[in-house]
Amino acid sequence: MNIILIGPPGAGKGTQAKRMIDRLGVPQISTGDMFRAAVKEGTPMGLKAKECMDKGALVPDEIVIGVVKERFQKPDAKKGFVLDGFPRTIEQAKALDALLTGMGTKLDHVVVIEVPDDFLVERLTGRRTCKTCGYMHHVKFDAPKTEGVCDKCSGDLYLRDDDKEATIRDRLTTYHGQTSPLIEYYGKAGIVRKVDGTKSMEDVQGAIKKAIGA
Ligand code: AMP
Repeated sequence: MNIILIGPPGAGKGTQAKRMIDRLGVPQISTGDMFRAAVKEGTPMGLKAKECMDKGALVPDEIVIGVVKERFQKPDAKKGFVLDGFPRTIEQAKALDALLTGMGTKLDHVVVIEVPDDFLVERLTGRRTCKTCGYMHHVKFDAPKTEGVCDKCSGDLYLRDDDKEATIRDRLTTYHGQTSPLIEYYGKAGIVRKVDGTKSMEDVQGAIKKAIGA
């Protein structure tokens, strides 16, 4: 099954994607995770991506499309995928259409997780990400037992640069300007399934399950 998750930053795309892949037996493909890994490794692509990420801006389409194209060549992607954070522009969506046509497949569902802006600001500024395993705690909703220390692996927790309030506001502007037009783009194909992302993780998971029938 080929699925795209669309939603503003902090809507819970990553969390829901992880739950879906266990159930569906397909890989999660997260461009944000791939860029963070490249930043950590200090590759030239990572340096370019970091510049954009720190500003709350999008990484240029040609870089993102190249990264996704490469990822699709791995054998596990043949089983299907949950794309989390890609596409984010109409240009990327068109490139994805072409890639999928080339692979002889197509999208089954575009799941849109809807959450109002103010709700997201509270969620994101409270996020603390583990430097070692990538797990995300939240100072209010999922506080670690010891401040600054990951419950899962005892790694250091930090506030991602792109989770700072000013950056979040910029990311939301970017989302409304560049990514939300995708909802109309895919709406024409009749594959958009909207869910309320303000609910608990379990409720959102249930709504997605119902929406995609799996
Ligand atoms: P995410 O973890 O998906 O919120 O992504 C974090 C940041 O990585 C974004 O704010 C962008 O700067 C960059 N990024 C991730 N995916 C894309 C994409 N599909 N197109 C452009 N930039 C992206």
